[in-house]
Amino acid sequence: MAWEVVIGLEIHAQLATRSKIFSGASTAYGAEPNTQACAVDLGLPGVLPVLNAEAVNMAIKFGLATGCTIAPRSVFARKNYFYPDLPKGYQISQYELPIVHSGEVLIALEDGRSKRVGLTRAHLEEDAGKSLHEGFEGVTGIDLNRAGTPLLEIVSEPDMRSAKEAVAYMRKIHSLVRYLGICDGNMQEGSFRCDANVSVRPKGQEELGTRTELKNLNSFRFIERAINFEVERQIDVIESGGQVVQETRLYDADRNETRSMRTKEEANDYRYFPDPDLLPVEIGEADIQRARAELPELPDAKRQRFMEQYGLSESDAGQLTASRELADYYETVVEASGGEGKLSANWVIVELGGALNRDDLDIADSPVSAARLGGMLRRITDNTISGKIAKDVFDAMWRGEGDADAVIEAKGLKQVTDAGAIEAMVDEAIAANPKQVEQYKAGKEKLLGFFVGQVMKASKGKANPAQVNELLKKKLSD
Ligand code: ADP
Ligand code: MG
Repeated sequence: MAWEVVIGLEIHAQLATRSKIFSGASTAYGAEPNTQACAVDLGLPGVLPVLNAEAVNMAIKFGLATGCTIAPRSVFARKNYFYPDLPKGYQISQYELPIVHSGEVLIALEDGRSKRVGLTRAHLEEDAGKSLHEGFEGVTGIDLNRAGTPLLEIVSEPDMRSAKEAVAYMRKIHSLVRYLGICDGNMQEGSFRCDANVSVRPKGQEELGTRTELKNLNSFRFIERAINFEVERQIDVIESGGQVVQETRLYDADRNETRSMRTKEEANDYRYFPDPDLLPVEIGEADIQRARAELPELPDAKRQRFMEQYGLSESDAGQLTASRELADYYETVVEASGGEGKLSANWVIVELGGALNRDDLDIADSPVSAARLGGMLRRITDNTISGKIAKDVFDAMWRGEGDADAVIEAKGLKQVTDAGAIEAMVDEAIAANPKQVEQYKAGKEKLLGFFVGQVMKASKGKANPAQVNELLKKKLSD
């Protein structure tokens, strides 16, 4: 039997406000436990929450960037449950009336096509505290610093059909919130995390299968693995005559498996009701205009512009616009290179990308600045060095040996373009290989490469390859 996989994601993006969603306490990460939760975050009697306007502004920006409808009126609701990291007994969230709804994003599939993923809604809510297990014997530590941190919960339609699509979607939202500057996207610190809802159904069946919800997914790699594991598990259950139980499962990265955590609550278990302490959120045209005016150029628009302005392929433009930092880096390289769009793209994607990957560095930590890389590309286009020698220059810059000119000077890498010097080397190569000359003249033209190689070797790679080629062709056909 052929199975179809169905996935919908709930992404929690921590909004990058300085203070919490309903109080003035700091949201900074990494403080001593329980130093950043105030009476409002704890829901102590006698205090009232006040909504952070910037959190609303950020949610509007997200809505605008994803073609969502911005609700003129949305309502905060209490979601009631008890958990040690939620001592006040309820989480303030939005339920029936979320702040934005009905949008979409496009994701790139592996075969190059793009696919629409629907966004059901995105709503504002507060985060809970954290339970700490490490370093405690027989008890659990509770750190409430995170309580009251603003979250945007982004709920997708069940539109993804494979773990790869789910990851592509997650990456897209990750890129988007970082472009918008509304979330730092730091997955290790938990600023960007997701729950994956997964089900399977026989191919061709309309009705959705029973889903499980996978929690604890804080890296792109884990999302893909956890979903793939869960799909296999569900298929096994059904094929051996059982039924998938709707439940929450926890992904264990060490064992690469999912385990049952609890059976799924129904909405009515939470006894949602409108929070009597908070007024409805009313958003007017002026609020929307203000958010719109603050929107940066978004990834899809930037990709399109890169294709038109720099003549890049869709795939190159897509890679270079994956993050705002990388796109900015690229455009600085182009400028410093004197407008070499394609050459810059190749160097940023292949050489720089490869080196960053190898040394596990972010673009922000690149030892070679965009200005320096662009400066080096100028030395290729003005024929000071060949593209091949440029790789050595790049490596030296990476090791911190100065800018391109300094490296070229110090290592004597300047390309030989002197026609007389090149002619002498060409003559020498021809004189030293009479047999190959004879074969070449008899029609074995691919031997040209052999001669080029000889000359390049004699020049230690420094002869201008175009000149060498041209001169060899001329002399060999004499
Ligand atoms: P809840 O609020 O209980 O988590 P929702 O109905 O809001 O449930 O759905 C949460 C997520 O689960 C959404 O992203 C939705 O697309 C997805 N989803 C719903 N049903 C299924 C299903 N049968 N298979 C896979 N994903 C599903
Ligand atoms: Mg859910």
